[in-house]
Amino acid sequence: MLEESRVRLNACELEIDLFCRGMRVPSDLRLDGARGVSRTRAGLGSGLEVVLPTRSRVKPGIWVNVPVAERFASSSPLWLWGDPDAGYRIVDDRCDASYDVKLPPEPKWYRRLTTRGVPMSQVGVLQGTYLGIYVNPVCAFWNYSPPLNCRFCTTGQNVGVNEAAEKSIADVVETCRAAREESGATFVHLNGGFQGSRGLEFVTPYVRAIKREVGMLVGVQLAPERAFDRYDQIIDAGVDHVSFCLELLDPEWFVRVCPGKARIHGQSLFIDAMAYCARRMPRGSVAGEIIAGLEPISRTFEAIDLITDLGAFPTVCIFRPTLGADLEDWPPPSAEDMRRVMEYAYDACRRHWLPIGIAPNLEVSLVVTPDDASLLAPRNASYYTYEAWRGLVRLAAAPVFKRRLRPH
Ligand code: SF4
Repeated sequence: MLEESRVRLNACELEIDLFCRGMRVPSDLRLDGARGVSRTRAGLGSGLEVVLPTRSRVKPGIWVNVPVAERFASSSPLWLWGDPDAGYRIVDDRCDASYDVKLPPEPKWYRRLTTRGVPMSQVGVLQGTYLGIYVNPVCAFWNYSPPLNCRFCTTGQNVGVNEAAEKSIADVVETCRAAREESGATFVHLNGGFQGSRGLEFVTPYVRAIKREVGMLVGVQLAPERAFDRYDQIIDAGVDHVSFCLELLDPEWFVRVCPGKARIHGQSLFIDAMAYCARRMPRGSVAGEIIAGLEPISRTFEAIDLITDLGAFPTVCIFRPTLGADLEDWPPPSAEDMRRVMEYAYDACRRHWLPIGIAPNLEVSLVVTPDDASLLAPRNASYYTYEAWRGLVRLAAAPVFKRRLRPH
């Protein structure tokens, strides 16, 4: 058992522990040059970006956005030690273990303005190695009275405060170009919550402009829309990835935590839209996003099965009681439960031969990816067969990504 073992953790186990326990940062610790704690998008970027080294040549580090501001982090046994010159370590008070870590530097372009005078850091932020941009107007669930926002979310408090309320296509293209050229970002994720029936229509010109002028891989995440031909349009525009935030499978938990989604969409629309896109896009291009740590984990396992049965891959967020969210006083989930969930997510991808971790230079800090979770898997014949296959797919896909990363 992870909590009882008091043994040295591998990089993925440490990642899960950090998500579930947070980390203390002594007030006098110097963090010069590190990426600041940013409260953009759904507020999940509210942590400190840290890279945990692995021994893998293919994946030399696991990126994690470590909760440091939330209340639970103040009692964490994990704390950060070091300085910018000597480097940093995470110390575990439970067993005297410590781990060398890196704090990725803040990109210089964060401090620049777009031509319209908007700070680029208020247009998009790096979350791991990819660029995240909340592109649409504030999610409409925040405009209802009383609000119908998802109870873990803080987007309505951030858009127009910590990030620009409006992002023109030119602002977004300039920020993408800076992230591509100066930070080596290959992927930009555009999200926007619930926008009625106009979200896809709104975001499509952004997708076209980024593909044409910058040549990044582009992902889109919006509440599902009933006119599925809009997904054909965004696929025609060149989108590389779409994701659907189902969040919870248990109907009662869904209504309780996501009242807007329950009232306006219903779970079936998320599933039908995901299935539609999974049939039309290359395997591994569609994701279903769920939150683990609220509903019973048996439901999380079922949700992972449902998503992978559709040919989509599971993006499993560990519930974070973000400051300012309706659920800010809820406890974070147990690390042991989350380890079981992540093992299950990797195994489901393996059983369905999903090509995970294939895109070049794409490391995600907000979630434990199935690729990260390969470190949890038992080393048996199934594991080695799948990993060898993933290696071949990565090689075969390299020229495809090279082409898709050219402006066109
Ligand atoms: S759909 Fe829910 S999680 Fe997404 S931005 Fe809106 S309130 Fe937040």
